[in-house]
Amino acid sequence: MKITDLIVTPIAFDDPPLLNAAGLHAPYALRIIIEVKTDENISGVGEIAGGSAALKSLQQAREFLIGMDPFERNKIKIAIEKGFENVQDTMNVGYAPKNVAKRIYSALNIALLDVCGKAVGKPVCDLLGGRVRDRIDFSAYLFYKYEGAGGKFDRGHDPDATGWHKFKENQFLTPDEVVEEAKAMCKEFGFKSLKLKGGVFEPEVESNTVIALSKAFGKGTPVRIDPNACWTLETSIKYGKILAPYLEYYEDPCKTQEAMAELGKAVSIPRATNMCTTSFEEIPSAIKLGSEDIILADPHYWGGIEATMQLGKICSVFGRGLSMHSNSHLGISLMAMAHVGVACPEISFAMDTHYPWQKDEIIKGGRIKFDDGALSVSNEPGLGVELDYEQLERLHQNYLACGYTERNDEAEMQKVIPGWTRKNHIF
Ligand SMILES: [Mg+2]
Repeated sequence: MKITDLIVTPIAFDDPPLLNAAGLHAPYALRIIIEVKTDENISGVGEIAGGSAALKSLQQAREFLIGMDPFERNKIKIAIEKGFENVQDTMNVGYAPKNVAKRIYSALNIALLDVCGKAVGKPVCDLLGGRVRDRIDFSAYLFYKYEGAGGKFDRGHDPDATGWHKFKENQFLTPDEVVEEAKAMCKEFGFKSLKLKGGVFEPEVESNTVIALSKAFGKGTPVRIDPNACWTLETSIKYGKILAPYLEYYEDPCKTQEAMAELGKAVSIPRATNMCTTSFEEIPSAIKLGSEDIILADPHYWGGIEATMQLGKICSVFGRGLSMHSNSHLGISLMAMAHVGVACPEISFAMDTHYPWQKDEIIKGGRIKFDDGALSVSNEPGLGVELDYEQLERLHQNYLACGYTERNDEAEMQKVIPGWTRKNHIF
C-alpha cells in the first residue's frame, strides 16, 4: 500500500467564552483535519490544534509522505524528523515542547494507524496490543466562564439551544455557579471525576471552588485543579496544604520542574503535569528532580498514539502515574484518545476532555455519546469514525469567515480587560 495524498483542512468550530490562565477562549476554536489517502482506496483521518504554522507544516509534510507505506511508520517518522529538523516551531498551541516534527508526526501517526486498522479490518486499539479495559472513564472539565454560547452568538445566546447546550451558555464565575455547572455536566455525561481549570481568579476563590465541589459531590468524587502554572511556589505550597484533603491530584500549580519538585517536598498530594514534563527529552531531569507523580499524556504532542503507549511504559518504570491532557477538540481526537485509553495499561485516571463544551462535529453520526462518563471503542476498523464531508466543509467555511488564524487567549481577554497579560497574571 502506498500513500498517494495528504489532504489538510483547517476548520473553526464554536467555542464558548471559557476562562483560563492564558486569558479567554475566542468564539471559535481552530483545528486542522488531515486525511491520508492511499492507492488501495483506504484513507485515514487525524486532527490537530490549528494555527497558520501547523497548517503550513502539514502542507509541507505531504512531500515526505507520498509513496510511503502507512505500515512503515518508523520510516515515515524519521523522514518527518529529518524534513523538519531545521524548521523553527512558531506554533502557538500551549505549553508543549517546540518541535515541529513531533507535532506534525503526532497528527500523522493517528491518521496512519487509522489507515492500517482499516487495511487489516481491526480497530486501532488492536494494533496497540488490544484492549486492557472495555471502557475508559473521562472527567468533567470545569471552567470559569462568561455568559455566552460562543460561535456566531459569541457572548449572546443561541435561541435554538436546548438541554446541556442551553445551560452551558450561563456564566460560571463563583464557587456556587461552578458547582451548578458540575452538576449539570455530570448529569448530562455521567462523569465521576471533576477537574477545575484554575489560574483565573485569586487562589482563595479557586481553593473555595474546589472545596465547594468536594462538599457538593462527596469524598467519592475525585477533584483536581489545574492553575496552569500561574501560582508561585509559595502560593502553590500554601494552597496545596489547604487542598490536600480534597484533591485527587494537583496539576501544574507552578512552573518548571524545579518548582514542582520543591512543591513535592512540602505537600503530600500527588502532583500532575502537562507543562513541566511534556516530552521524552524532559524525562531524565524530571526523574532526577522528582518533578511530578503523574504525567498527563497527549497523543497530539507526545508523538502520536504509539508514543503515548511508550510513555506509559516509561511511567511504570519510574513510578509515575499516567493520565490524559486535552485541548478543544472534536470526535477524531476523542476517539484517538479513547483507543489509547482502552489499550494503555498505565492509564489509571479519568481522562480530560473538552468535548462537552463543543456542539459541532465533523464525523458521520454526529456527536459521540458518553455512557455513564465513559467511552468504549467499537470493533469498526481503524479509529471507527468517518468524515462527514458536508460538516467538514461547513466548519472549513467557518474558518475562512471567522477571521481567526491563530489562537490568542490573551488578545481575547484584552477585549474584556484592557491591558490584561498572562505575564502579569501570577498569584
Ligand atoms: Mg494542564
